[in-house]
Amino acid sequence: MDKLWMRKKDELFQEFGTSMRGLSGEEAEQRIEKYGENKLKEGKRKGVIQVFFEQFADLLVVILIAAAVISALTGGIEGTIVIITVLILNAILGTVQHFKAEKSLESLKAMSAPNARVIRNGEKVEVPAARLVPGDILLLEAGDVSAADGRILENHSLQVSESALTGESENVNKIAEIIEKDELPLGDRLNMVYSGSLISYGRAVVLVTGTGMNTEIGKIANLMESAQEKSTPLQRSLDDFSKKLSFIILGICAIVFGLGVWRGQPMADALMFAVALAVAAIPEALSSIVTIGLAIGTQKMAKENAIIKNLRAVESLGCVSVICSDKTGTLTQNKMTVQKTFTLEGTTDTDDVDCNRTPYRELIVTGVLCNDGAINGETQIGDPTETALLTFCRKAGGNEGDIRNTYPRMSELPFDSDRKLMSTLHQIEEKYLMMTKGAPDVLLARCKNVVENGTTREMTQKDLDGILAQNQAFSSQGLRVLAFAKKEIDAKRLLTLEDENELTFIGLIAMMDPPRLESAPAVGDCRRAGIRPVMITGDHKVTASAIAKEIGILQEGDRAMEGSELEHISDDELRGMVKDISVYARVSPEHKIRIVRAWQENGCIAAMTGDGVNDAPALKQADIGIAMGITGTEVSKDAAAMILTDDNFATIVKAVGNGRNVYANIKNSIQFLLSGNLAGIITVLFTSLLALPLPFTAVQLLFINLLTDSLPALAVNMEKPTGDLLNDKPRDPRESILTKDFMRRLVIQGGMIAAVTIVAFYIGMGVSDGMACTMAFATLCMARLFHGFNCRGARSIFRLPNNPYSYGAFAVGATFLMAVLFIPGLHGLFDINDALTGTHILQIVGLALVPTFIIQAARVVRGR
Ligand code: ATP
Repeated sequence: MDKLWMRKKDELFQEFGTSMRGLSGEEAEQRIEKYGENKLKEGKRKGVIQVFFEQFADLLVVILIAAAVISALTGGIEGTIVIITVLILNAILGTVQHFKAEKSLESLKAMSAPNARVIRNGEKVEVPAARLVPGDILLLEAGDVSAADGRILENHSLQVSESALTGESENVNKIAEIIEKDELPLGDRLNMVYSGSLISYGRAVVLVTGTGMNTEIGKIANLMESAQEKSTPLQRSLDDFSKKLSFIILGICAIVFGLGVWRGQPMADALMFAVALAVAAIPEALSSIVTIGLAIGTQKMAKENAIIKNLRAVESLGCVSVICSDKTGTLTQNKMTVQKTFTLEGTTDTDDVDCNRTPYRELIVTGVLCNDGAINGETQIGDPTETALLTFCRKAGGNEGDIRNTYPRMSELPFDSDRKLMSTLHQIEEKYLMMTKGAPDVLLARCKNVVENGTTREMTQKDLDGILAQNQAFSSQGLRVLAFAKKEIDAKRLLTLEDENELTFIGLIAMMDPPRLESAPAVGDCRRAGIRPVMITGDHKVTASAIAKEIGILQEGDRAMEGSELEHISDDELRGMVKDISVYARVSPEHKIRIVRAWQENGCIAAMTGDGVNDAPALKQADIGIAMGITGTEVSKDAAAMILTDDNFATIVKAVGNGRNVYANIKNSIQFLLSGNLAGIITVLFTSLLALPLPFTAVQLLFINLLTDSLPALAVNMEKPTGDLLNDKPRDPRESILTKDFMRRLVIQGGMIAAVTIVAFYIGMGVSDGMACTMAFATLCMARLFHGFNCRGARSIFRLPNNPYSYGAFAVGATFLMAVLFIPGLHGLFDINDALTGTHILQIVGLALVPTFIIQAARVVRGR
């Protein structure tokens, strides 16, 4: 149906088979069948077969295939079988990893999928945006991202950014009236909203006219890329590193090949060996180890209420050095209860307030009318600040439903955290009254009159001082204070921002929002971990400071600053003083972006929370933008890198700990892989240079590569966090994973494993060359499997949390090794010497344990 902007409401309702009461649940379900889900189609996914075959498109694999062919041509058919088995197993492993990573990304995406509010069966309900259908009555308000195309039925100052469609970043003021024009470009269709547009102000009731691929954005969107992630900085730097390392290893392999041929080894054998050495030594698993480590980390974090939207964020999380957090709902419980009221008649405790008595009646009525909250049975809908006012009304003997029915809303100026005010228009006894509530300092600055004993008179300086003193007194008890006012308006008309001046002050309501129990311990953890907690709030400075002190954010010597002060200092000045300021009060969203920048310019990695529509730029600017899952707007979730499903500050600190753990695990896996590979290379180089027989056969090298690489490295990636992680300072993001210290450890550990392998080799030489080979192979394998335990963490193994995967990886590796050593039928295939005795086995195990014993002993000693 086209030219929707020209249609009358009734016509539209008829066409779409709906009404202001919305569709019924069943009808909506049927329409899903007919129109499909409200989603943009994604590009075609790769199938299992395709992914499987892609695993073979790798230089190393091509080399291996060549080796298999050579092996078959030169009569080594067992070698060919082993190589092919290794290749297939490797490809299966790669395929499984691919789909596992994809699945975990998918499930994360599903968790952060948006919801939409609609009217169905005459009731306001929230449904997943994917379940919207044409004919639905969609409710949009500031902070939403429109989930479908639609025609505006009711408009309350709706302003929309349609930049996704039109490229125009300016906000568009929307209307509900018909536009009588045949041709109308998209940007001029003022009574329509389009999927993907950001609602920056106001609210509207919209008839959904297009969903999914039938939206304007669906028409222009080429099929979206599937859930493939771009590589993260860590992945890129490791890819780079493995490439360089591969060249070095290929160089070494060339030398070994040259030496072999020079000493009269058959060309094919020498080549086969060089190839196997390359395969065993090149850490081809590095990049996938990182992906898997990051994916495991995101799954764990999601279980702990932090949904990570991209893998890159997991990496940055571990480096976070400052967390700027909202107060309300994040550090506090967002369970507001009204404690006290103030009018010019005096201060009263809630228990003594009666809705029908003079000073209170007007205060309560204003609180109920200028209010978007609702209480349905047990559930409170909307902003807790507002629902607290409704609960208060009931407690004082009033009924918010009756009040709202008697004085319906005629116009409104919605709340926004820049203005810190909200106003609505009602007819009350022949008069048109605008009711306003907001932050006391802001509202009082706009008051001209006061009500006392039911009559209005001009506000004196004494009145003002008295009110401000009372506000201060409430705030210093950590109470959150709202001020209420009214103003007579000349006629029934739309309110404008101009109207919010020359108001008449009615009173104050102070409510309590206790800190979350977890906040103080989480702040303590933060400090221990070298992370600076900072509170940024729209609330009053005194209230904010009282709470910040209670939970440990504001300490001796720290400062609290107001948004207005911030406006008088330059960015340079802010950069100089930002480290002294722990609390920012009465800030607007624009201030937040300056605060984040100032921290970043001090070399810090900043995490910042936000929930409102205007918070999006600050969330994008922060290294980790954090949106609130429960109270946050869709716009903020869109801009954030992480979403908290419980809106809790403690969850951020936990996520940082997890981020550090992921990084530590990845680093440990890499240490395991590289030290083991190094041991193999050293052994081969040693024997090559001393003109001794080769310590391993090609098949044995492949066996080592397959069995002792991936599984223990994966197990290390599953390691749980220890308390230690929050004892260190945050990691410098510029620091390479391959620090000097890391390299030193690598060389020592690799060297030790190589040493015991060479000793085993010499013991075997006493029997025969073949036995030397068998002994070296088995010792290297065993030593690497034991070494898997060393790489689990920096602590001694007795002080690490239990990790069943590491035992599993060891058991699988050891079982396969034993099978190869003890099953005579396999000896031919793996070049195992038949003369292997129990004494040899004891020697192998004993030698293989030596490096692990030394490493663990050193840790125990250091631990003491
Ligand atoms: P935080 O930024 O920590 O979440 P906040 O909820 O106080 O704290 P805002 O939502 O920006 O921050 O609110 C700023 C101020 O505006 C509040 O301190 C309060 O005085 C006032 N205010 C909050 N909600 C409303 C509302 N619904 N109507 C009118 N005024 C409000």
